[in-house]
Amino acid sequence: MNDQQHPVTSSADSLAALTPHLFRPLGAQGVYARTALYAQILERLECYITGLRDLGSEVLRFPPVMSRMQLERSGYLKSFPNLLGCVCALHGSESEIRTAAERHESGGDWTASLGPSDLVLTPAACYPVYPLVASQGPLASDGRLFDIEADCFRREPSTHLDRLQSFRMREFVRIGTPEEIVAFRERWMERAPRIAADLALPHAIDVANDPFFGRVGKVMAVSQRQQALKFELLIPYYPGATPTACMSFNYHRDHFGLVWDIRSADGAPAHTSCVAFGIDRLTVALFAVHGADPGRWPAETRRSLGL
Ligand code: 5GP
Ligand code: ZN
Repeated sequence: MNDQQHPVTSSADSLAALTPHLFRPLGAQGVYARTALYAQILERLECYITGLRDLGSEVLRFPPVMSRMQLERSGYLKSFPNLLGCVCALHGSESEIRTAAERHESGGDWTASLGPSDLVLTPAACYPVYPLVASQGPLASDGRLFDIEADCFRREPSTHLDRLQSFRMREFVRIGTPEEIVAFRERWMERAPRIAADLALPHAIDVANDPFFGRVGKVMAVSQRQQALKFELLIPYYPGATPTACMSFNYHRDHFGLVWDIRSADGAPAHTSCVAFGIDRLTVALFAVHGADPGRWPAETRRSLGL
């Protein structure tokens, strides 16, 4: 295997050359089949992250869809209405559904008959966890801790390898008192450089904001930054590249506690935090920084991933 076949990424062009090693196109931007090579490294990365998780975490794996009502109540439409994908379906009698489908056969627009269902595509892994916890009664004295994962969807078509419409997100979520939540997020932000070092990935950690929609969103973004509610682990895919956010460290204050009436043992609205691993972005980062042949990756990376 020579360097020509297994490029280490040094520019946007060589990042593009990596694509056939990792993905197969599926006819829509930012939607890919993963190769065996990619899937193998993704699985090793998942195992590495499992090794990091706190004792006592409750493990849940979510499907790629969630309740529309739950996401609406979470306030998603106020923040990111442009990113949401809603599951639509043909409703009605057999003949109404047949008529709509046949319109397609005759070159017409069958989608005009679509109506919304009770499902949306999950836009971030942790949204379903809060209503689930709320349904289980008051929190125990030490709160709750989760290891969750979902395939997430955000309507952002792009040809960039780090901007997928459908991508995997793993999260550690903490629900409890403000003190517990602040300590949780601090601890993970302190661990982040060690995670990047384990994988031999160049990195920086910086305060960040979510891409809130529209003009009002700009104000929300400034406020989020001023309160330092979001930090990101940023990794450049090649020297000089705009760094890609591969992890985020989020403090929601009492937002989900109030929305879902989750209360700490003392009766106060619970605070929440999530630490998100962008599994696809981290996997692409490994290949972009170390090359397409894991056999030639740095010893530290190989050891951490059990290769
Ligand atoms: P956040 O909720 O902070 O926007 O997303 C959590 C993590 O998911 C991000 O740090 C990032 O690693 C990953 N992520 C967000 N958007 C995308 C995307 O468009 N494509 C990919 N591959 N990962 C994303
Ligand atoms: Zn989250």
